[in-house]
Amino acid sequence: MTTVVLMGPPGAGKGTHAELLAGRLGVPVISTGDIFRAQVASGTDLGRTAQRHMDAGEYVPDEVTNAMIRERLAADDTRSGFLLDGYPRTVDQVAVLDEICTVDAVVVLQVDQEPLVRRLLRRAEIEHRSDDTEEVIRRRLQVYADQTVPLISLYGGRGLLREVDGNGEIDEVRERVLEVACALTPAE
Ligand code: AMP
Repeated sequence: MTTVVLMGPPGAGKGTHAELLAGRLGVPVISTGDIFRAQVASGTDLGRTAQRHMDAGEYVPDEVTNAMIRERLAADDTRSGFLLDGYPRTVDQVAVLDEICTVDAVVVLQVDQEPLVRRLLRRAEIEHRSDDTEEVIRRRLQVYADQTVPLISLYGGRGLLREVDGNGEIDEVRERVLEVACALTPAE
């Protein structure tokens, strides 16, 4: 069983690279952001709760997110492992994940701040995401810095970190992600 966490600030390209990495590892991607967006689209109670926080650039409260991920990780398709995209994001979520499984590696996409803001504004124009206005983008980056950056040294202390330079063209980053995937794939 391979369990990998993918971390990185909003706009770092987590979604794109998660698919690539998970494909190489032969595990499903589980993205909390995607699950929340699906709930919003279906108009569920969870979706309505999540949307209030997402639209403000804030994290969905831990108790809501943790309950959702516990349920998702109990499903059959996670038996051979999974790649978590966007979870955990807080120290409290790390504690819950520790109860559920052993993490094998934490891949962190490191991207400089200003290219991120530009990238997110461009994406906002294309995708019309309600959490991609400039004010909300800056808030999301601040929340990441305050609540999620501390997880990097936490996992670093456990010797699990694989840092990837996420600056530059998407193909260059893709190559770097593939190198990490190779290093994580057990030799056959
Ligand atoms: P993402 O697509 O991963 O950037 O997630 C979009 C939004 O969903 C985030 O800005 C948060 O509001 C919410 N979200 C996703 N994952 C989490 C999480 N692990 N904890 C709290 N909120 C989350």
